[in-house]
Amino acid sequence: MTFVLGITGGIGSGKTTATDRFLEHGIIVVDADVIARNIIQPDSAVLKQITDHFGSSVLKKSPTEKKELNREQLRQIVFDNPEEKEWLENLLHPLIRQQITKELNQEQNKPYIILSAPLLLDTDLYTITNRVLVIDCDEELQLTRASNRDSSNQDDIKKIIVRQISRKERLSKADDIITNNGSIDELNQSVDQYHHQLIEQLNRT
Ligand code: ATP
Repeated sequence: MTFVLGITGGIGSGKTTATDRFLEHGIIVVDADVIARNIIQPDSAVLKQITDHFGSSVLKKSPTEKKELNREQLRQIVFDNPEEKEWLENLLHPLIRQQITKELNQEQNKPYIILSAPLLLDTDLYTITNRVLVIDCDEELQLTRASNRDSSNQDDIKKIIVRQISRKERLSKADDIITNNGSIDELNQSVDQYHHQLIEQLNRT
C-alpha cells in the first residue's frame, strides 16, 4: 500500500491551505470531512438509521421529494449531548473509515498519499497512517482566521476548540509539525520543503 501521510490540526490551523499546496505537487488528498459529508446520501440506509433514531426533524424541509439531512440541526442535537454524539459516531465512524481505506487503496502511482482529517488524533483514524503531520498555529490566530472565514464569532470557535483534542496532546502525538504563524507564502514554502524531504526519505527506504 502507498505510504499514507496523515495531516491534522485544530480548527482554522491551516490544514486546507496546506493540503491545497500538496495538491499542487500532484499529491492526492483524501479528505475525511468530505467523505463524512458524502456518506449520508439521500435514500441511503445510513440516513434511514439516523431518521429512525432522531426523528424526521433532522431532515431538510425540501420542496422536492428527496429527503436530505439537515446537518446543522443534527449538529445542534449532538453538540451538547454526549450520549447522542456517541450513538452517531458509533454508526458513522466505521463507515467513514471503510470508505477512507477504499480511497487510499485506489492510489498506487504516487510516492505517497495524504489523509487529511481534523479528528485524526481524536479518533483511531491515525492508525491508518504511516506518519502524522500536524499543522499548528497560535490559538489567537486560529480564532481570528476561523471566525473571519466562517463569519462566526470567536466564542463559537472557542467552543469547538475545547471539544477537540488539546493542542498540547496533538503536538505530542505528531511525528512532524509545520508551524503556520506567518504568511500563507511562508506556509507554502514549509510545505514545499516538507514534500521534498519526504520524497527523499521515501526514495532512500
Ligand atoms: P478547518 O479545520 O476549520 O476546516 P483548516 O485547518 O482547514 O480549518 P484553513 O481553512 O486552511 O484551515 O485556514 C483557515 C482560514 O485561515 C482560511 O480562511 C485561510 O485562508 C486562512 N489562513 C490559513 N493560513 C493562513 C496564513 N498563514 N495567513 C493568513 N491566513 C491564513
